[in-house]
Amino acid sequence: MKRGQLLSVLVGGVFCLAVLSLYRMLELMQGAELQRSRERPEVSEDLSRLQQKIDRLERLLNNNNHLVATLRDSLLHRKASWERENREQQVNVSSDSVHSQADGLPGCRLAEEIKDGTNGVQLLDVYDLLPFDNPDGGAWKQGFEISYHDNEWDQQSLEVFLVPHSHNDPGWLKTFDSYYQDQTRHILDNMLIKLSEDSRRRMIWAEISYFSKWWAELDDQKRQMVKRLLKAGQLELVTGGWVMADEANSHYFALLDQLMEGHLWMQRHLGVQPSSGWAIDPFGHSPSMTYLLKGAGLQNMVIQRVHYAVKKHFARQQTLEFLWRQSWDSSPRSDITCHMMPFYSYDVPHTCGPNPAVCCQFDFHRLPGRRVVCPWRISPQPITEQNIKERALLLLDQYRQKSHLFRSPVLLVPLGDDFRFVESSEWDVQFQNYQKLFDYFDQHPELHVKARFGTLSEYFRTLQDHLSTAGTNLPTLRGDFFTYADRDDHYWSGYFTSRPFYKRLDRILEATLRATEVLFSLMLAEMRHFHGNGQLAADFPAVDHFLHLTAARRNLGLFQHHDAVTGTARDPVVVDYGTRLFHSILNLRQVLQSSAHWLLLSDKSQYHHDQSKPFLLMDDVIAAHDALPQKTPLTLSDKPRLLVVFNPSAQLRSSVISVVVDTLDARVVDAETGRPMAAQISAVWEEPSRASSEAFQLDFVAELPPLSLVIYHVTKASVGSAHRVQYTISRHGDPSAVKSKHFQVSEAEVDAPLSLSNKHIQIWSSSESGLLQKLCLLQSGLVHKVQVQFLWYGTTTKQDKSGAYLFLPGPEEAQLYSSSEPPLIRVTRGPVFSDITSRFKHFTHRVRLYHLEGHAGRSLEISNIVDIRSEVNRELVMRITSDVANGNRFFSDLNGFQMQQRRTLAKLPLQANFYPMTSAAFVQDSSSRLSLLAAQSQAVASLRPGELEVVLDRRLQQDDNRGLGQGVTDNKLTASLYQLLLEDRRGGAQEVGGASVEHLSLLAHMTSLFLCHPPHTMVTSSNSQLPRLRPFLPLRSSLPCDVHLLNLRTLEDTQEADTPSQEVALLLHRKGFDCSSAPQPSLPCTWSPNEEVDMDDLFSPLQFRSLRRSGLTLLREHDEPESAWQQQQSRITQLRPMEISAFRAVIE
Ligand SMILES: [Zn+2]
Repeated sequence: MKRGQLLSVLVGGVFCLAVLSLYRMLELMQGAELQRSRERPEVSEDLSRLQQKIDRLERLLNNNNHLVATLRDSLLHRKASWERENREQQVNVSSDSVHSQADGLPGCRLAEEIKDGTNGVQLLDVYDLLPFDNPDGGAWKQGFEISYHDNEWDQQSLEVFLVPHSHNDPGWLKTFDSYYQDQTRHILDNMLIKLSEDSRRRMIWAEISYFSKWWAELDDQKRQMVKRLLKAGQLELVTGGWVMADEANSHYFALLDQLMEGHLWMQRHLGVQPSSGWAIDPFGHSPSMTYLLKGAGLQNMVIQRVHYAVKKHFARQQTLEFLWRQSWDSSPRSDITCHMMPFYSYDVPHTCGPNPAVCCQFDFHRLPGRRVVCPWRISPQPITEQNIKERALLLLDQYRQKSHLFRSPVLLVPLGDDFRFVESSEWDVQFQNYQKLFDYFDQHPELHVKARFGTLSEYFRTLQDHLSTAGTNLPTLRGDFFTYADRDDHYWSGYFTSRPFYKRLDRILEATLRATEVLFSLMLAEMRHFHGNGQLAADFPAVDHFLHLTAARRNLGLFQHHDAVTGTARDPVVVDYGTRLFHSILNLRQVLQSSAHWLLLSDKSQYHHDQSKPFLLMDDVIAAHDALPQKTPLTLSDKPRLLVVFNPSAQLRSSVISVVVDTLDARVVDAETGRPMAAQISAVWEEPSRASSEAFQLDFVAELPPLSLVIYHVTKASVGSAHRVQYTISRHGDPSAVKSKHFQVSEAEVDAPLSLSNKHIQIWSSSESGLLQKLCLLQSGLVHKVQVQFLWYGTTTKQDKSGAYLFLPGPEEAQLYSSSEPPLIRVTRGPVFSDITSRFKHFTHRVRLYHLEGHAGRSLEISNIVDIRSEVNRELVMRITSDVANGNRFFSDLNGFQMQQRRTLAKLPLQANFYPMTSAAFVQDSSSRLSLLAAQSQAVASLRPGELEVVLDRRLQQDDNRGLGQGVTDNKLTASLYQLLLEDRRGGAQEVGGASVEHLSLLAHMTSLFLCHPPHTMVTSSNSQLPRLRPFLPLRSSLPCDVHLLNLRTLEDTQEADTPSQEVALLLHRKGFDCSSAPQPSLPCTWSPNEEVDMDDLFSPLQFRSLRRSGLTLLREHDEPESAWQQQQSRITQLRPMEISAFRAVIE
């Protein structure tokens, strides 16, 4: 408590100082007033003096704002820890429970309370149960023989819904635009004609990216036709996402954003909203997607690509239809009705029933003389009076067999395939022949079957009616459907890493988009407030900027497609996606820069927009869609150079800001307070052993209030005044040849282990390789084995080899990476950070420790730059081996939204034990947890106890027979970034049946947030005649640590297209967090034991003119009534752990 008291005194002292300076300001103001009344003459001189004084006042006021924000944060945080300590003492008196620490974290107890995984089907248990023996099932190769009695439907007729669909990939073998021109627009044009011909016809459509492009080209009459078809229920838009998103690599920010983009487009142009989800091609399915669909108001969904053995098991149990529940949710709130398609594929041969040879005969697009054939060598026949009875009974037999796999007599039969229904004649053969069969069924009531064309919602409505009439409950299911296998040992775990360069670029665009959305929305609100009457500055390019934002949302959305972020498109298509991501990053930077420009100006009348001469520029340049960013060297002089740093997180943070300068001696001060920042100068390495003599890296520690824009002055300092880092170089068998005249470079002692430490951790690395070997948490003093290795996987010698989708390694173990030349190892030691860099032939690996106060120094930053372009059929992995006794259990995240337990199973082939990792994975035992937090999506596995390995890049020369028709050989110089966090645990890890639900710790959440959302650094483009600037500090204090500002997204004006409205979508995600340890030192933000939160307080001093809870995609029909908050004084609302809450808000 002594330290606490000292801190309180300190905090009190600083507070008094703040009050004093406020008082001094008032005094000054009075003085100015007095002076003005006394002296009349020489008005202009007077006025300018007054101006200077006001300037000074303003600066003081800003200082105080900053000070008060920091004070408030530290007070809140002291209060929270004091309360916690108090509670702990009480608990310790009453019991010696191992959970005493956990009980001290009230927010985590909330998350504990909602997790309970005992009822219903748990997919992990299914995996334990299944033999994965893959026997031949006969006609239904991966299934079993199905038998039935003819009279089974006598009481209740079979009701068949034949659902026509066309699967349109927004890019795969061709680009989005080529597909649109060659196929999609014809499909939709014909749809309009063919559905209008007969009211019994139906069609469903999923991809709004295509639909909106087509709509833009329609005349008014055709638009009316579309609306009529929608209204009549002949056409249904399903899911309503921008794309049919990948569910393994996509982050939930992007998943939700593309869903919102699609839904808001539907609302604006069509006035409809989707009710059913349709995901027939993503390679495995995630409950994060179902959470978002349910939150967006959908009731039902269909999935298809599930492991064949799981499908078979579910078919036997009649559990192909179930209520999919979130693992962490004990309430049915998040449940959604899910239909899993039972057979191998979504094409016609695999959807009418178990026998593809029969079903193919009912794909009339394959009639003799047409372009497609049946590979089972029995062709379809046109339905005639002569064959109709035989044909109808043959089809009915398949329908009846399929129906046996479900609990109700309602049957869903999709009719379609990739890019189907292009030609008008295809519509005719399908609709006409099927109508004849349906009519035949109608004329023969003794068959007890009613069949018709249907939409997905028609199917689900009828299903729900039957279930409720029969009193049948669908089983509840928890878990996910990774890793997908479609046949034999063909596991689709390759695409978790394929094209890793673009998986990383995806997340850079995502972070840039989120930062820009937030700053743009805050700026518009400020600007409207400033001008009054909701007006914007005269030459502010609001529409241009909003168009850039919209295009970026759509390009990010497009990239979530299941052949885009997955890395499974053809080379030219990958370039098309990459170019879109790249251009959007550049355009968003313009929006970010000009938003910051306006916000920073003291005198807003000085704002002028000139795109050719922007006031601010980013501090780095990305030269091309396939290039890594490069820092722009800044020229320094005695005159201060301005740096502006934007903190995109809603929590206070200390970050190390890195810029490149032209001098060895630089000084950084906070522009407001004049306070010098801790800094260091290091070399810019032009080659591994040659440092640049013109450019130097300047790193300094920035204290960044939540969502703030902070200004720093960088100047050239006196010679020798800046702290230069020291280097130690070692290269075995070769004398050090490192050249640097500006830095002290010494040679490492042979065989002496390399070691670094900061206040919290010490690490030891191998003197041979520079790779990590041991790690000590200094507080507990315990040394853990944490060893980093690199390994190669090859591909099998069998015929089917690894490709873009599949990972098919050989039978031998991964081969330890070795190179003929020893690596160059460079140890850097400085006051801001220290690191060890190992340069190997195929990669440069770096571990870095930051010497930061507080939690930021608790983890180890790992960075890899990989280049495997010289290799053939090889995959490079980074493996971390620890002494954590996790058995065969580990955890990986699903879309950055939740953690999922994994079990490494010996009965499965190696490639089946790899899982997607969007942002995190950990292994744990009762005393420690080792978390790997990642800034990009990759494949992860824990093949042996204590291990975690990630696949960094793959180069594969051949196609893997899933339609792509090429290998993956367009590798690039690829970066990946991580934080490795070792935490002590007290208790936890007890597993009572089923799978335990675990969350990241609060510290891991914050570390991950800061890793994925780095600060954005801008510089003024010129140094001459800068206007007066002041920092922008929108929030009085940090949001609680467990509340993440997911987005603050300006909505489109309802009247004027492409124009920003005053409404924003405010999205908050309250994270569930682990109870087993409290972060030490404490975090710079608080957390609350209550679900209720006062929104006005949370965002103070921002004022909401209106604030209404809505659905996750902000559809108007989901808005809560405006009156909801009118009865109460403040805006108190519920934020449940794990849940995302969406609000439609207008900021005052
Ligand atoms: Zn597809």
